[in-house]
Order: sequence, then C-alpha cells, then structure tokens
Amino acid sequence: MKVTLIKASASGAFKDYKAYMGAPPQSVYSLAAATPEYIELDIIDETSDKPAPIKLESDLVAIFMSTPDAMRGYELADRYRAQNISVVFGGLHASFLPDEALIHSDAVLIGEAEAIWPHLLDDFEQGRLQAKYEQSSPSDLAKLHRYPHEYMDLAPYQGLGSVVVSRGCKFHCSYCTVHRFFHEFRTRPVGQIVDEIRSSGLEYIELHADNLVADREFAFELFEALKPLNIQWLAEATINIAEHDDLLEAAAESGLFYLLSGIETPSHAALKAAGKGFIRVDRTKDYIRKLHEYGIAVDSAMLFGFDEHSPDIFEETLAFVDDVELDVCHSVIVTPYPGTLLYNQLNEQNRILHQDWSRYDGTNAVFVPNQMTAHELEDGLNWFHEHYNSLGRGLKRRFTKARNLGWINSSYM
Ligand code: SF4
Repeated sequence: MKVTLIKASASGAFKDYKAYMGAPPQSVYSLAAATPEYIELDIIDETSDKPAPIKLESDLVAIFMSTPDAMRGYELADRYRAQNISVVFGGLHASFLPDEALIHSDAVLIGEAEAIWPHLLDDFEQGRLQAKYEQSSPSDLAKLHRYPHEYMDLAPYQGLGSVVVSRGCKFHCSYCTVHRFFHEFRTRPVGQIVDEIRSSGLEYIELHADNLVADREFAFELFEALKPLNIQWLAEATINIAEHDDLLEAAAESGLFYLLSGIETPSHAALKAAGKGFIRVDRTKDYIRKLHEYGIAVDSAMLFGFDEHSPDIFEETLAFVDDVELDVCHSVIVTPYPGTLLYNQLNEQNRILHQDWSRYDGTNAVFVPNQMTAHELEDGLNWFHEHYNSLGRGLKRRFTKARNLGWINSSYM
C-alpha cells in the first residue's frame, strides 16, 4: 500500500513566514514516524518544497494544514478524491473543525495523531474506514518513534533537522492553539532525545517544543545532556529564560544560538488580558541584552489588534523593537484561529467578520477591532512593516545585531 503525507501550504504571507522558520513540520514527520515499515511512504511539504502534484499515484493521502492553508488543503483533497484516492485530514484546523474537513475527505484524525494513525491504516486496509478517529488523551511522548531522519531531505530546510522534545505549554494565552490542541504540557525522556540526535547524526537542529523552558528542571537536565553532542540548536521558549543565569548558560553551552520567543507587544495591558502577563515588558531589554551576551539571537512576532491597542500602538511598537534591539521581528495582526479562546470570545461578541480561512494569515483583520477600524488595523500593519524594513533601519539593525552577537568588535563603532 502506498500512502502520501502532505503538508498543504497556500501561497502568501503565512507560507513566507513558515518557510522562513524552515523546520520540518512536526505533523507529517510524526505521522511518518508512526507509519508501519511495510507501507510505502511519500512526503510532500508544500511550505518549504515543491507544490503537491496534479496527478498522484497513491492509495491514501493524509493532508495536514493550518487554518490559513485550509482552502488549499481542501482543493488538494477534492483533486485527489476525484482521482479515486481516499483522503484523510489531520492537524490543527481539521481537529478543531472536523465536520468542515469531512466535507472534503473520507476521515479526520482529531488530536495528536500517532496513536490513532495505525488504527486508521488498519481499518482502511480492511475496507472499514470510519469518519472520525479521535485521540482523547495526550500522547505519551516516551512512546514516540524517532523521525525517519535517514529518509528526510533537509535541503528545503537549509539543513535544519528536527527532534521532538516536548509538547504543550503550561500557559493559556487566549490567541494560542497550543494549549487547546495538546491540552497538557509533557516532556520526552531526555535519554530518548539524546539517542535520536546521536543516531541521526544531525548537528544543526530545531529542538521541537512549544515552550522549551516550561519545566525548568527538565530543561536543565536536557541542556546538560546535550553539551557533549557538539550541536547547534534553536527552539521556542519564553523570553523569561533570561531570568535564570544557570539555565541560560547551560543552554548556550549546549548549542543554543537562536531563540524564537513570543514577546508579542509592548502593551502590558494587552499581554495581561491575553493571559501572557508573565512577560515583563519593562525587563525585555535586559533579557535580550543578556541573551546577546551568550551569543543568542532573538526572534519574535509582534502582534497588532488586541482590544487594548489604540492607533498609537504601531509607532509605540516600532520604538520598542528598536529600543530592545530585537534581532528579527515578524509583524502580524493577532488572528483568532478556530479552537482558540480568542475565536470563541470574538464569535460570542459577533466580531468575526468572515470565515474565509485563506485571509486568516496575519495580514488581514478578520474581526472588528476594539479601538480602530479593520481598515486602520491593516493600514497600521503596513505602516509598521514599511518602516521596520526601511533601508536605514535595516542597515542599522544588521550592524547592531553583528555588534550584539560579537561578530564585530564594539571598538569599531
Ligand atoms: S506561552 Fe506561548 S506556547 Fe504557551 S500558551 Fe502562550 S503563546 Fe502559547
């Protein structure tokens, strides 16, 4: 039997953002890891590589997609079903809206898919495929199979490999899908992580976690175990990692060079209302300076459109990212993805403008903002983007980054 796993990706701002992140997607590679060896497997990641083909030779296709890619996922599903290929959806969007996904598919994997995937495959082979396969409890990460690194082409990811470290987060930010999808924070046994890295031969790795430092003791144990491996790694973690010198030192010594961190906005009121009040805006500059001292670059999205944001937020945010010397900043409109607390809240308030998922890409206001119009929010985002990426600012930022990370000597300034 031949199975094709596809990460669907529509062209546009969201794809550009994901491609920039450039790591192998957990959704398809976790499923690949859980696929029995006798099955012939093909993997297509439209985000970083080529588009899925017009004509496909496969018995079964499993498509994963985020909300902005849902229309693309449905287009592919309709295309392959017309070729008499059975289609299954999995991942965030389909898990939160399984009935919508079933309009375009034969079955939906709801929740973390590894444990239910073999059942679905078995049912498919026996000709008794059900419509919904639901994983009701969080996966035990000690039972994860390693990614099939030997068969993974890392060229589309600039050589960056990926190893699962933990899932979930202890926080409950209103706009975030992580805690709604994964429910509980869980870690993978450190020995398994180290074994997978050693056996894969990877040296440049994304340690896949939603918040790497959610469990301080685990993080410390992991960093100590990584030190002898001589790898370079990046990961997602809250900026609060900088509060703990020992943890930061261990992270840097074990190879951390790039931190993806959700600083989000200089508005403490907005962070607090969203459940992220633990981010100390007034300490951010010190935190970033400390990360730089360890040679670690900091990358964060800045979100616009929280209810606490007035039209001044665009200039305020620009001044903030300049001041704190953030290395890389992605500007996006806060987007109420289905399944989030934010979506539910805005929906109850009749403030969701439409369900054209292709416009849920962070560049469009898909809801009625509180202190400005949807148009003003989009214009403000464009203003920020233009000014942040101006030639003068770009050059200054490059120089500042090189100085902060020790690539040039500050005496040349
Ligand atoms: S801290 Fe980050 S991962 Fe955790 S709930 Fe908030 S936004 Fe999501």
